Amino acid sequence: MKTIGLLGGMSWESTRTYYTLINRAINEKLGGFHSAKIVMVSVDFAEIEKCQSDGDWDSAAAMLAYAAKRLERAGADCIAICTNTMHVVFDHIRSQVTIPLIHIGDALGSFAVVHNHRCLGLLGTRFTMEKPFLSDRLENNFSVNIITPTETQRHEIHRIIYEELCNGEINAASRNYFLTVIGELSSQGADGVVLGCTEIGLLINQSQTLVPILDTTALHSESLVDFSLSN
Ligand code: GLU
Repeated sequence: MKTIGLLGGMSWESTRTYYTLINRAINEKLGGFHSAKIVMVSVDFAEIEKCQSDGDWDSAAAMLAYAAKRLERAGADCIAICTNTMHVVFDHIRSQVTIPLIHIGDALGSFAVVHNHRCLGLLGTRFTMEKPFLSDRLENNFSVNIITPTETQRHEIHRIIYEELCNGEINAASRNYFLTVIGELSSQGADGVVLGCTEIGLLINQSQTLVPILDTTALHSESLVDFSLSN
Protein backbone atom coordinates (compact mmCIF):
# COMPACT_ATOMS: atom_id res chain seq x y z
CA MET A 1 0.00 0.00 0.00
CA LYS A 2 1.30 3.45 -0.93
CA THR A 3 1.26 6.34 1.54
CA ILE A 4 -1.20 9.15 0.84
CA GLY A 5 -0.09 12.69 1.63
CA LEU A 6 -2.91 15.00 2.70
CA LEU A 7 -2.30 18.73 2.49
CA GLY A 8 -5.12 19.66 4.81
CA GLY A 9 -6.56 22.21 7.17
CA MET A 10 -8.50 24.11 4.47
CA SER A 11 -10.62 23.78 6.44
CA TRP A 12 -9.96 21.05 9.00
CA GLU A 13 -13.72 20.34 8.97
CA SER A 14 -13.34 18.82 5.51
CA THR A 15 -9.91 17.29 6.07
CA ARG A 16 -11.40 15.02 8.69
CA THR A 17 -13.94 13.89 6.08
CA TYR A 18 -11.04 12.91 3.80
CA TYR A 19 -9.41 11.02 6.67
CA THR A 20 -12.64 9.13 7.43
CA LEU A 21 -13.57 8.32 3.82
CA ILE A 22 -10.07 7.13 2.90
CA ASN A 23 -9.73 4.89 5.94
CA ARG A 24 -13.23 3.45 5.45
CA ALA A 25 -12.59 2.67 1.80
CA ILE A 26 -9.26 0.99 2.48
CA ASN A 27 -10.87 -1.11 5.19
CA GLU A 28 -13.78 -2.06 2.90
CA LYS A 29 -11.36 -3.15 0.19
CA LEU A 30 -8.79 -4.96 2.35
CA GLY A 31 -10.91 -6.01 5.34
CA GLY A 32 -9.67 -7.04 8.77
CA PHE A 33 -7.86 -4.31 10.64
CA HIS A 34 -6.57 -2.63 7.51
CA SER A 35 -6.48 1.14 7.43
CA ALA A 36 -4.87 3.73 5.18
CA LYS A 37 -1.23 4.79 5.27
CA ILE A 38 -1.49 8.56 5.52
CA VAL A 39 0.78 11.44 6.34
CA MET A 40 -0.76 14.86 6.78
CA VAL A 41 0.41 18.43 6.98
CA SER A 42 -2.42 20.60 8.23
CA VAL A 43 -1.99 24.35 7.75
CA ASP A 44 -3.45 27.22 9.76
CA PHE A 45 -6.45 28.15 7.61
CA ALA A 46 -6.42 31.75 8.91
CA GLU A 47 -3.10 32.31 7.10
CA ILE A 48 -4.44 30.87 3.84
CA GLU A 49 -7.78 32.69 4.08
CA LYS A 50 -5.95 36.02 4.58
CA CYS A 51 -3.97 35.42 1.38
CA GLN A 52 -7.22 34.57 -0.43
CA SER A 53 -9.05 37.69 0.69
CA ASP A 54 -5.96 39.86 -0.04
CA GLY A 55 -5.64 38.26 -3.49
CA ASP A 56 -2.08 37.29 -2.50
CA TRP A 57 -2.00 33.94 -4.31
CA ASP A 58 1.82 33.90 -4.52
CA SER A 59 2.19 33.82 -0.73
CA ALA A 60 -0.45 31.10 -0.46
CA ALA A 61 1.35 29.12 -3.16
CA ALA A 62 4.65 29.44 -1.28
CA MET A 63 3.06 28.27 1.99
CA LEU A 64 1.42 25.28 0.36
CA ALA A 65 4.56 24.35 -1.59
CA TYR A 66 6.48 24.35 1.71
CA ALA A 67 3.81 22.06 3.22
CA ALA A 68 3.97 19.78 0.17
CA LYS A 69 7.75 19.44 0.53
CA ARG A 70 7.25 18.44 4.15
CA LEU A 71 4.81 15.73 3.02
CA GLU A 72 7.35 14.43 0.53
CA ARG A 73 10.10 14.35 3.16
CA ALA A 74 7.73 12.53 5.54
CA GLY A 75 7.37 9.66 3.05
CA ALA A 76 4.19 10.46 1.12
CA ASP A 77 3.97 8.74 -2.28
CA CYS A 78 1.42 11.26 -3.58
CA ILE A 79 -0.16 14.51 -2.47
CA ALA A 80 -3.75 15.72 -2.40
CA ILE A 81 -4.55 19.38 -1.84
CA CYS A 82 -7.70 18.92 0.27
CA THR A 83 -9.57 21.93 -1.09
CA ASN A 84 -10.89 22.89 -4.51
CA THR A 85 -10.02 26.56 -4.15
CA MET A 86 -6.32 26.13 -3.59
CA HIS A 87 -5.99 24.12 -6.78
CA VAL A 88 -5.63 27.61 -8.21
CA VAL A 89 -1.91 27.24 -7.29
CA PHE A 90 -1.69 23.54 -8.27
CA ASP A 91 0.98 24.07 -10.96
CA HIS A 92 3.33 25.89 -8.59
CA ILE A 93 3.00 23.23 -5.89
CA ARG A 94 3.53 20.48 -8.43
CA SER A 95 6.72 22.13 -9.63
CA GLN A 96 8.16 22.01 -6.09
CA VAL A 97 7.90 18.25 -5.43
CA THR A 98 8.83 15.08 -7.28
CA ILE A 99 5.89 12.89 -6.19
CA PRO A 100 2.53 13.03 -8.04
CA LEU A 101 -0.13 15.56 -7.09
CA ILE A 102 -3.60 14.11 -7.60
CA HIS A 103 -5.82 16.88 -8.97
CA ILE A 104 -9.35 17.13 -7.53
CA GLY A 105 -10.67 18.15 -10.97
CA ASP A 106 -9.28 15.00 -12.58
CA ALA A 107 -11.05 12.82 -10.02
CA LEU A 108 -14.25 14.73 -10.80
CA GLY A 109 -13.74 14.76 -14.57
CA SER A 110 -13.06 11.02 -14.77
CA PHE A 111 -16.25 10.31 -12.84
CA ALA A 112 -18.23 12.69 -15.06
CA VAL A 113 -17.01 10.94 -18.22
CA VAL A 114 -17.81 7.46 -16.91
CA HIS A 115 -21.32 8.60 -15.89
CA ASN A 116 -21.92 10.48 -19.11
CA HIS A 117 -22.32 13.96 -17.60
CA ARG A 118 -22.14 16.64 -20.31
CA CYS A 119 -23.22 19.74 -18.40
CA LEU A 120 -22.57 20.25 -14.69
CA GLY A 121 -23.55 23.01 -12.29
CA LEU A 122 -20.62 24.11 -10.12
CA LEU A 123 -20.98 25.18 -6.49
CA GLY A 124 -17.96 26.34 -4.53
CA THR A 125 -16.21 29.42 -3.24
CA ARG A 126 -16.37 32.53 -5.43
CA PHE A 127 -12.78 31.74 -6.46
CA THR A 128 -13.73 28.27 -7.68
CA MET A 129 -16.93 29.40 -9.39
CA GLU A 130 -15.43 32.52 -11.00
CA LYS A 131 -11.78 31.70 -11.79
CA PRO A 132 -11.15 29.32 -14.68
CA PHE A 133 -8.80 26.83 -12.97
CA LEU A 134 -11.43 24.13 -12.37
CA SER A 135 -14.03 24.80 -15.08
CA ASP A 136 -11.40 25.07 -17.84
CA ARG A 137 -9.85 21.79 -16.79
CA LEU A 138 -13.23 20.06 -16.93
CA GLU A 139 -14.17 21.64 -20.24
CA ASN A 140 -10.79 21.13 -21.95
CA ASN A 141 -9.75 17.73 -20.60
CA PHE A 142 -13.12 16.03 -20.06
CA SER A 143 -15.49 17.83 -22.48
CA VAL A 144 -17.86 18.74 -19.65
CA ASN A 145 -19.68 22.06 -19.92
CA ILE A 146 -19.83 24.03 -16.65
CA ILE A 147 -22.57 26.41 -15.55
CA THR A 148 -22.55 28.49 -12.36
CA PRO A 149 -25.18 30.19 -10.17
CA THR A 150 -26.06 33.89 -10.49
CA GLU A 151 -23.84 36.60 -8.98
CA THR A 152 -26.17 36.99 -5.96
CA GLN A 153 -26.26 33.24 -5.42
CA ARG A 154 -22.46 32.93 -5.75
CA HIS A 155 -22.07 35.60 -3.10
CA GLU A 156 -24.39 33.82 -0.67
CA ILE A 157 -22.87 30.38 -1.33
CA HIS A 158 -19.40 31.82 -0.66
CA ARG A 159 -20.64 33.41 2.56
CA ILE A 160 -22.20 30.16 3.79
CA ILE A 161 -18.96 28.26 3.08
CA TYR A 162 -16.70 30.65 4.99
CA GLU A 163 -19.00 31.85 7.77
CA GLU A 164 -20.75 28.54 8.48
CA LEU A 165 -19.32 25.37 6.93
CA CYS A 166 -15.62 26.12 7.56
CA ASN A 167 -16.61 26.62 11.22
CA GLY A 168 -18.54 23.36 11.36
CA GLU A 169 -21.89 25.18 11.49
CA ILE A 170 -24.77 23.39 9.73
CA ASN A 171 -27.98 25.39 9.19
CA ALA A 172 -31.27 24.15 7.76
CA ALA A 173 -31.88 27.52 6.05
CA SER A 174 -28.53 27.27 4.26
CA ARG A 175 -29.29 23.70 3.21
CA ASN A 176 -32.59 24.87 1.69
CA TYR A 177 -30.77 27.69 -0.07
CA PHE A 178 -28.30 25.24 -1.64
CA LEU A 179 -31.13 22.90 -2.65
CA THR A 180 -32.96 25.78 -4.37
CA VAL A 181 -29.82 26.71 -6.32
CA ILE A 182 -29.26 23.05 -7.25
CA GLY A 183 -32.84 22.85 -8.57
CA GLU A 184 -32.33 26.01 -10.65
CA LEU A 185 -29.08 24.73 -12.15
CA SER A 186 -30.86 21.53 -13.08
CA SER A 187 -33.67 23.42 -14.80
CA GLN A 188 -31.03 25.40 -16.71
CA GLY A 189 -29.74 22.15 -18.20
CA ALA A 190 -27.23 20.78 -15.69
CA ASP A 191 -27.37 16.97 -15.65
CA GLY A 192 -25.61 16.99 -12.30
CA VAL A 193 -24.28 19.45 -9.71
CA VAL A 194 -20.72 19.49 -8.41
CA LEU A 195 -20.11 20.10 -4.72
CA GLY A 196 -16.93 21.91 -5.70
CA CYS A 197 -15.95 22.88 -2.20
CA THR A 198 -14.80 20.22 0.21
CA GLU A 199 -17.14 21.37 2.99
CA ILE A 200 -20.43 21.36 1.06
CA GLY A 201 -20.85 17.63 1.63
CA LEU A 202 -21.29 18.45 5.33
CA LEU A 203 -24.57 20.17 4.34
CA ILE A 204 -25.81 18.47 1.17
CA ASN A 205 -26.06 14.83 0.17
CA GLN A 206 -27.76 12.79 -2.52
CA SER A 207 -30.72 11.80 -0.31
CA GLN A 208 -31.96 15.41 -0.33
CA THR A 209 -32.35 15.89 -4.10
CA LEU A 210 -33.10 13.98 -7.28
CA VAL A 211 -30.42 15.96 -9.15
CA PRO A 212 -27.24 13.84 -9.36
CA ILE A 213 -24.67 15.19 -6.90
CA LEU A 214 -20.93 14.94 -7.54
CA ASP A 215 -19.11 15.50 -4.25
CA THR A 216 -15.47 16.43 -4.89
CA THR A 217 -14.37 15.36 -1.38
CA ALA A 218 -15.68 11.84 -1.95
CA LEU A 219 -14.37 11.60 -5.53
CA HIS A 220 -10.94 12.94 -4.60
CA SER A 221 -10.76 10.52 -1.66
CA GLU A 222 -11.67 7.61 -3.96
CA SER A 223 -8.92 8.50 -6.41
CA LEU A 224 -6.42 8.63 -3.54
CA VAL A 225 -7.49 5.17 -2.41
CA ASP A 226 -7.09 3.86 -5.98
CA PHE A 227 -3.61 5.36 -6.13
CA SER A 228 -2.68 3.92 -2.77
CA LEU A 229 -3.71 0.39 -3.80
CA SER A 230 -2.29 0.53 -7.32
CA ASN A 231 0.93 -1.22 -8.31
N1 GLU B 1 -12.47 23.78 1.28
C1 GLU B 1 -13.01 24.76 0.39
C2 GLU B 1 -12.81 24.37 -1.06
O1 GLU B 1 -12.85 23.20 -1.37
C3 GLU B 1 -12.89 26.19 0.76
C4 GLU B 1 -11.84 26.58 1.71
C5 GLU B 1 -10.65 27.08 0.98
O2 GLU B 1 -10.68 28.22 0.56
O3 GLU B 1 -9.68 26.36 0.79
O4 GLU B 1 -12.67 25.19 -1.92
